[in-house]
Amino acid sequence: MAAKLIKGAEISKQIREEIAKEVQELKDKQGITPGLATILVGEDPGSKVYVGQKEKACSKLGIYSERIDIPADTSEADLLDLVKKFNHDPKIHGILVQLPLPKHIDASRVIYAIEPDKDVDCFHPVNVGKLMIGTGRFFPCTPNGIMEILKRSDIPTEGKHVVVVGRSNIVGKPIANMMLQPPPGGNATVTLCHTGTKDLAAFTRMADILIVAVGKPKAITADMVKEGVVVIDVGVNRIGKTAEGKAILTGDVDFGSVQEKAAAITPVPGGVGPMTITMLMKNTVEAARGLAVGSKQ
Ligand code: NAP
Repeated sequence: MAAKLIKGAEISKQIREEIAKEVQELKDKQGITPGLATILVGEDPGSKVYVGQKEKACSKLGIYSERIDIPADTSEADLLDLVKKFNHDPKIHGILVQLPLPKHIDASRVIYAIEPDKDVDCFHPVNVGKLMIGTGRFFPCTPNGIMEILKRSDIPTEGKHVVVVGRSNIVGKPIANMMLQPPPGGNATVTLCHTGTKDLAAFTRMADILIVAVGKPKAITADMVKEGVVVIDVGVNRIGKTAEGKAILTGDVDFGSVQEKAAAITPVPGGVGPMTITMLMKNTVEAARGLAVGSKQ
């Protein structure tokens, strides 16, 4: 039987409606307009699209946004100055520096420079550490989107065996962490796989919930999953272009064959993807709310 399709795009739309109401409430009751600054260094076409989508989302939800595009040869010192300026700007509650950065700039130094209370991507070591010990206020956007997708699809994680494939700092490690936290965390038993894992299929076959973030099309095939598994495909791989020049996207999971065995699965596109920017908006509102309830800023 074909799997239930988990429609991230619809869930994302629903959450955005909730965020728009929260934004209005913050404006009406506290006189605060949440503000997001995005900094784009260079001309990477993919990054330009992402930054544009973030700006558009802000404008639709009533969030103030400031976008700074600077040339690829901007010095690290100038970028750090810009970050510091936004750290002290009361109109700005969230700062996002679009990655990847040009090679001459040390991305960690830039991330470390962002005031943790404004780190809406949740990449700063302070926020990563808080996530790890279960005291985080911000959650990284894509992993938080996955948690929300499961929650709103009535798929419990408690007591489940969650297998994560991929150990990036952006997806694999944080989602594994969020899944193993006690409630309101996932409270799941977690296995984290990577290229050093011997016999990957032996682990993926044990998964009740399989989360795949490797960046390789068809990395997971039907013989690697058990009947009734829930599959979250985070991968976004560009495998060509349509006649109109639009990118053709596919995930990391062989959707056609895996959906025959799975109980539920996220499609690509339209699964996890739309959740990421939505959760960024949520973090920006959360950052602004932090000010409202008297954070140190
Ligand atoms: P990444 O930094 O490239 O990390 C990939 C991870 O997968 C690494 O830990 C790597 O292991 C592991 N891996 C690669 N091939 C593997 C294999 N055959 N078996 C087991 N593990 C393997 O990737 P990422 O940033 O997490 O992104 C992963 C995918 O998700 C990409 O397609 C990306 O575009 C997509 N993504 C989507 C969203 C969204 O909003 N939907 C957000 C972020 C990323 P090693 O550590 O051992 O090298």
